[in-house]
Amino acid sequence: MAVAADTDANLLRLGGFSGKDIPEDDLLRACVHCGMCLPACPTYRLTGQEMSSPRGRLWLMRAVADDRLDLLDPLFDEQMYQCLNCRACEAVCPSGVHYGPLVEASRAQLEQHRPRSLSDRVVRRIGLDWLFADSWRLRWIVNLLRLSQRSGLTVLARKMGILKALGMADLEALTPAISRRALVPGNERWDADLSISPPRRARLFNGCVMGTVFANTNRAAARVMARNGSDVDVPVAQLCCGALHVHAGMMEEARVLARTNIDAFASSGDDPIVVTAAGCGAALKEYGYILKDDPAYAESARTFSARIRDFTEYLGERDLVPPTRTIRRQVTYQEPCHLVHAQRISRQPRDLMNAISGLELIEMKESSLCCGSAGIYNIVRPDMANELGDRKALHAMETTASEVITANPGCQMQVGASLRRNGSTAKVRHIADLLDEAYGGAKTKRSVIGNSAQHATR
Ligand code: SF4
Ligand code: SF4
Repeated sequence: MAVAADTDANLLRLGGFSGKDIPEDDLLRACVHCGMCLPACPTYRLTGQEMSSPRGRLWLMRAVADDRLDLLDPLFDEQMYQCLNCRACEAVCPSGVHYGPLVEASRAQLEQHRPRSLSDRVVRRIGLDWLFADSWRLRWIVNLLRLSQRSGLTVLARKMGILKALGMADLEALTPAISRRALVPGNERWDADLSISPPRRARLFNGCVMGTVFANTNRAAARVMARNGSDVDVPVAQLCCGALHVHAGMMEEARVLARTNIDAFASSGDDPIVVTAAGCGAALKEYGYILKDDPAYAESARTFSARIRDFTEYLGERDLVPPTRTIRRQVTYQEPCHLVHAQRISRQPRDLMNAISGLELIEMKESSLCCGSAGIYNIVRPDMANELGDRKALHAMETTASEVITANPGCQMQVGASLRRNGSTAKVRHIADLLDEAYGGAKTKRSVIGNSAQHATR
């Protein structure tokens, strides 16, 4: 009962309860146990264990639902969190099992009832709840990290073994060079190239990591969209999409972020909302699902989700303005799971790369197999993540391409660290940066609207 009381108090603090998070019975029953998903599952391929497969995990969820297995059985906990939530199983399932929401609901069930250690609670509350729910705080922390990178403090701490002693060595290995300036929503906007008709309007979803660590990639994406005839705005008051919270079973926290984002984009009609992070795009497209039981937001959440476009999807919706520069280079493509499996977007990124004169796209083996990033999986489960990262790096290195192109910040960090660990000097880049280079870079007209006084918090 103490657990239930804690949970209710927490939900009240978050401003409401939107329904019980348990795997939905009809979604669970869709599985006919055919096993066709097994070869697609990274954890099954690594372990060869039935329990580590989608079918095995669905069996466990069913057993908990039927009271044949205790929710707090360690096997259930282990399997729900060993899963990468990469959704490769969903993409190949002939019965259309919607696996993502099932594993997310199972984690939410565990989150509500599982006793947690103090350190675990602190990491979740500070890392996910306190930090990602406030864009101003996040920018300050990222600025401090950047200062540490630029001043050489990070390198010094690594060499002295301080990062290892603090348990931060893996995290540091994943962190790329941070953009010089965060992109603050409401402060910058890009004007459409007026020679392209008809003109379009797009709203950029800034995101937490993309708007800070990879802010220059968001600027590159906006320039490419403007070059293709779109006015691009970055609406103020938007926050993190909540994907990490959904992955961690923190559904109510995710819903608070979802409502904030829906409100932030409400005044822009039905303009497309363009996203440069595959993981964010997949989460934003599911706002309609996670808020379906919220009478105040169910309808607006559905409308909002219908406006979401991945950057490559948006550009693929009409004829591309031919890139102006020739780039003589060999590249390979790493498919982000939440682009290819969750959003089923695979052709558009390849079409965009093939439109660049001189560029040679060499396909790597297992391009769509998870690289091990999977939200914070590579931080909390480095062993399996590194095994998948090494496998990805070796496949990329076999192609002899000098750049690995992707469309998600998590993949960019994980594949970059895996390549370095395996002695490769190949770069990992976002497809927006590659396209921006092909259009000549930062020549597109940009308006600077304000200063960083805009402060979005929930
Ligand atoms: S999830 Fe789909 S593919 Fe996998 S066993 Fe069930 S029905 Fe078959
Ligand atoms: S989401 Fe990925 S790791 Fe999880 S069961 Fe499906 S294929 Fe396996």
